[in-house]
Parts: sequence; C-alpha cells; structure tokens
Amino acid sequence: MTTTQPDFALNEQAKGFLSRDVHHLFIDGQHVPAVSGRTLTTTNPSTGEVLARFASGGQADVDHAVLAARKAFTGQWGTWTPYERQALLTRIAQVLDQRFEELIQIEALDMGAPVSRLRNTKASLMKMLAFFASQAMNVSGETLMNGVPGNVTTMTLKAPVGVIGGIIPWNGPLNSQFWIIGAVLASGCTAVLKPASEASLSVLRVAEILHEAGVAAGVINVVTGPGREAGNALAAHPDVDRIAFTGSTETGRRIIEASTANIKKLQLELGGKSADIICADADLDKAVPGAAMGVFSNSGQICFAGTRVLVQRSIVDEFTKRLLAFMDTLRVGHSLDDTATLGPVINQTQLDTVLSYIDIGRNEGAELLYGGQRLGNELGNGYFMQPSVFGGVTNDMRIAREEIFGPVLSILPFDDVDDAIALANDSEYGLGGAVWSQSLSTALRVVQGVHTGTMWVNCYGYIDPMVGFSGTKTSGYGYKGTAAHMDTYLYTKSVYIQL
Ligand code: NAD
Repeated sequence: MTTTQPDFALNEQAKGFLSRDVHHLFIDGQHVPAVSGRTLTTTNPSTGEVLARFASGGQADVDHAVLAARKAFTGQWGTWTPYERQALLTRIAQVLDQRFEELIQIEALDMGAPVSRLRNTKASLMKMLAFFASQAMNVSGETLMNGVPGNVTTMTLKAPVGVIGGIIPWNGPLNSQFWIIGAVLASGCTAVLKPASEASLSVLRVAEILHEAGVAAGVINVVTGPGREAGNALAAHPDVDRIAFTGSTETGRRIIEASTANIKKLQLELGGKSADIICADADLDKAVPGAAMGVFSNSGQICFAGTRVLVQRSIVDEFTKRLLAFMDTLRVGHSLDDTATLGPVINQTQLDTVLSYIDIGRNEGAELLYGGQRLGNELGNGYFMQPSVFGGVTNDMRIAREEIFGPVLSILPFDDVDDAIALANDSEYGLGGAVWSQSLSTALRVVQGVHTGTMWVNCYGYIDPMVGFSGTKTSGYGYKGTAAHMDTYLYTKSVYIQL
C-alpha cells in the first residue's frame, strides 16, 4: 500500500455549488430553510475540514415536503403519459452525462470515495436510467377469465402507489438515489428523499438538476437532517405510501416500527457480512484481486462487501501470500487524487469503530497480517487507515459476525464445499457472496447452498438493473432491479365490469 497526494483543480460548477453559505432543503422546486432555522455541517473525510453547511430538517419540514409531493402526485404530473415519462428519463440521462464530473467532485469531497472510482460508476448510472426509461413503457395489467355470473369482464390495472419516502445511506448516494428516483419517475409516483447527514450534497444537487431538466415542482423533494428526526418523521408519516430504505439493519427495524400506523409498504436493503468462497481449484490470478476488491472497494463501505473470505485449507498459504502482495499495489489517498484507488472512511466515528475492530480481532486471537493503523503524515487530518487483513479467523469471532463497514478482510479456512456452505450460512445476514472455482458443478452447488440474496461466480460485485439484486435474512427484503422493482412502486387494482 502506498499513499498519494492530490493535484486537482475543482470544476467551476462544483466550486460554485460548494461555495453556498447554506444548502437549503429542496421542496416544491424551491430552496427553503428548515422551519427551525437549524443547520448541520458536513466534513470532507480526506481533510477533516468542514465542507458545507446544510439545513437540519425535522417533522415540520417533512410535513411540508410530503404535502408538496402529494399535491404533485394528484396534479398535472399524474396526467403524464408513459411516453412523456420515458422522454424525461432519457433527457435526465443526457444532462447527467454532461454534469457527471461536477457531481462526482461533490460526492468525492462529501463522502470520500476517490474520483477514479466514482468516474467508473458513470456507466452503471447510465444503465440505470436507460433501464427505468424502458420500464416507464412496460407497465401493464392483465385481462382475466372469470366465473362471475352474467356478462362480466375482468382485468387488473397497475397504478402508482403515491408518495415514496426515500431514506438513503452515505456510502454512495450519488448513484444509489437513482434506484428510487428512476422508479419514481418511471411509475408516476412522487418522492421525498432523506439523505444521510454524513453525505447529503449530491442528493441536493441532483434534485436541482432534475428540476432544471424538466421534473415538475414537488415530484422530487429533499429534506436533509438527522435520521432520528427527519428520517423518523418520514417513516412514520401518515401520508407517505411507501418507504424505500437503504441502511443498517438496526435502523431498518426502527423503520418497520415507524411504518405500522398507516401500513406502509417497505423496501429494506440492509447490512451484510458476505462470504467470498475461494475453492482450491480457483484461478488465483483472478480470485485474489477479485476477493480483495470485493472488500476494499469504497474502503470497505459497501453493504455486500465479501468481508469473510473463506479459503480452502490446502491453498490458504498460497492465497495469503498473493493477497499480501496485492495489498502493496493499493494506493490510499485524498478523494480528489486521480491516482488513489482507496479513500478515507466517512468520519472520525467510523474510523474509531473500524480501528476498534482491529483490537477486537487481535484480542480474539486472529492474526493481523496487514495494516491495522490509522495513516498519518500528509493524510493525518483525514480519516484514513491502512486496508487490513486478518488471518486465522474463525466464524465465532466478532470480526467474522459483525458488519465492520471498513477496509478489513478476514481469511477463514475451510475443508470442503459442505464446510464452506455451512460457514457461509452461519450468519444473521444474507446479502451477497461469491464462489471462485473452475468447476461449474462446484460453483453451482455453492450457489444453491448459500442462503443469500445475490451470488457471484468467479467475479464480485456486478450489479445490473436488468438482473437486479436483493437480500434475505436480516439483510432485508424487496427486490432492486427488473420489473419486480417497478412493481413495488405500483399497486394492482382488480376491476369487474358488468356489461
Ligand atoms: P444508517 O442506518 O445509520 O442510516 C441510513 C439512513 O437512515 C440515513 O439517511 C439516516 O439518516 C437514516 N436514519 C437513521 N436513523 C433513522 C430513523 N430512526 N428513522 C429513519 N431514518 C433513519 O446507515 P448508514 O450508516 O448511513 O449506512 C451504512 C449501513 O447501510 C450499513 O449497515 C450498510 O450495510 C447499509 N447499506 C446497505 C445497502 C444495501 O443495499 N443493502 C447499501 C448501502 C448501505
């Protein structure tokens, strides 16, 4: 691992946006301060310096935003044809294509992911918009046979569910917000988005850009503020029909509780502790970098990170030797440094948490093979740590059971495929996972045996909206991607017509 320094000139539009005194809420097409007048600050994780000040919204602001979203839902937006909604999504893709550099700079400064990584996410954002544009034209019910006496025709219709509350985490809001925005615009719903306070800026900026691109006032609103205030107000709001939530399992439980009053529909994408299984016959030239980046991408702050790397006992030494050599190729640096492959973690609290897991792992008897320290010198003011590897981990250790959400990889040996499947399944989570083997039958046996929402074979982390992904167990429910995703923004109405 080496460290790097930035040499980067900010894009003029990003600079202009970031120079605002306060980033207000975005409600009904307007920038409005929080009713309380309160503000919060966000910090640049690469330097520890305050980056921007933004409104701290609460119940009154959520009420205001939900009212705007309801008005838009029942207003002119509700009359847009699928053709018009598809054209809007296509136009948005063109605008975002042109504005992407500005957006990734805002995102890099706000949440710390390196621009090199963010630049690579453009293709997936464009795919998402193309996918949702196609879905706008793909909503249909059925005509059904029936046994009703008389001359009765029966059918089902699909209709948009209404106002969506979108609660977004900090680990990649620029892209992840489009799982909600895309489905909202394709289905004819409206939304109030509540980004995480650690990284709200790209969500606020996108809402403005969407408005400029032709999204009517009130269709996409943003209320920033603390989760326990603005987030909870949205989850409990009687006029919100559905919550799309991505975040921790603990917050997911609170959302479920808050949603009971008006029986909200929920989509919950929660935490994970995914197993990445390396069989003895794996192609290690691919499996080593694949498994490493399945953990260290985004500095380990990815829900489906394959942090439990299960390695067949006969190749543990060879795998470990190659992994440690790969670690030396990683470049940790400021998020605006084009040559950095890994950035900081999001904030001091997260850094302290991740470092505390290093102590926990050591105290539990795991062997720290690489990293484990906060980085100093030119990166000393930011929240940087060395990407870290533990060997000799057993599945009962806390580092193998709890989601660390930082750059920490654990190697767990296994004896045979049944053993690997049992270890993979011995987790409260069921989000991602992978198997590396040159035998298709071994790989399929593992795919079928592991109880998880998404499995990769000889690769890690691909997500395509035409294929989708999901979680099971305490990793949540509600499919993302495919027509199943769109279906959750619609409800089915049965119609009986006496002719
Ligand atoms: P978090 O649960 O702390 O926060 C997520 C969002 O919920 C934030 O906007 C936060 O403000 C809001 N929130 C907090 N308390 C709330 C409450 N009581 N009511 C309503 N909203 C509330 O999660 P985080 O720290 O921002 O993100 C990291 C977590 O998210 C990790 O556990 C990670 O695995 C998970 N995650 C999951 C996925 C997935 O697709 N499964 C993707 C990304 C992140």
